[in-house]
Amino acid sequence: MIRDSVTIMRGCFGGCTFCSITMHQGRAIQSRSKESVLKEVEALAAQPDFKGNISDLGGPTANMYRMRCSKPEVEKVCRRLSCVHPTVCKLLETDHAPTVELLREAREVEGVKRVHVASGIRMDLAADEDEYLEEMAAHHVSGHLKVAPEHVSEDVLNNMKKPSVESFDVFAERFLAASARAGKEQYLVPYFIASHPGSGVEEMIDLAVFLKARGYKPLQVQDFIPAPMDVATCMHFTGLDPMTMKPVKTVQRLSDRKVQRALMQFFLPENWFTVRRALVEAGREELIGSGRECLIPSNPPKEAVAARRRAADAKVRGDRKKGGGVRPRSKGRSGGSGRG
Ligand code: SF4
Repeated sequence: MIRDSVTIMRGCFGGCTFCSITMHQGRAIQSRSKESVLKEVEALAAQPDFKGNISDLGGPTANMYRMRCSKPEVEKVCRRLSCVHPTVCKLLETDHAPTVELLREAREVEGVKRVHVASGIRMDLAADEDEYLEEMAAHHVSGHLKVAPEHVSEDVLNNMKKPSVESFDVFAERFLAASARAGKEQYLVPYFIASHPGSGVEEMIDLAVFLKARGYKPLQVQDFIPAPMDVATCMHFTGLDPMTMKPVKTVQRLSDRKVQRALMQFFLPENWFTVRRALVEAGREELIGSGRECLIPSNPPKEAVAARRRAADAKVRGDRKKGGGVRPRSKGRSGGSGRG
């Protein structure tokens, strides 16, 4: 995948707090020239074992190519962490025409059959760009387009410095319409993060309800990892938003992380007991049952019972290994209680 991919720029002005790209690649986008990118595509296409597919023409965010602050003198002194949060800055040039031109020319290179865009794209910037969406849907998506709404809770999204979840719905509608016009059945694969600062059980239940309503079943869960240099890492360890110094709830215990993961995958039978307990404790019993909006059925599926039995057996085996399980019965008083 890496061998047949081409990086077209570096940097990201998104400023998402859980991502350190803005810190180590910079907020100002540095784009390669079209000629330089095409030269690399030609070199790849000339390789004897090249199969005709460019696996990715992208970068940290594939549709930020050639985007920049329109006023360099303002950019020099601007202290905003993100050019697109809470709103897209009026001084940001968001023209997608250079990206469209680059994609078109790349797929015309001799020996190239397909040019995929596998890097993530910023949905709030792309949603209004009809030409870009048509181009992507018709030529550069191989069935599934990965996008990253990351959460649905306004509070969590604010902590992440991500746009509101409505921008996902708007983008989804337009992308699916563009795919239909291109005569293709294509889908979005949305990514979400569990246990991000600000995300508690209530927020994860809201996310589960959102997923259920739209028919999404995430096969993978991104578990928040406090990585070096992230603003969210600072929130995780201090319990404060360093921008506002307001308290932020955080998830520290592994058992609480597991609950958040289970809520995102509420549809997996083995998560039934965990999800049920979380819903009952949160007072959301209306989501248990056979109604269309319910997350889990009233009774545990047999896979849930089997999974619980396996977990209990594994725990007993683990206890025995540690010497904490069944011990030979002690003789006399020196053996403690004698219960083993
Ligand atoms: S002025 Fe706006 S576009 Fe320019 S760097 Fe600041 S936030 Fe970004």
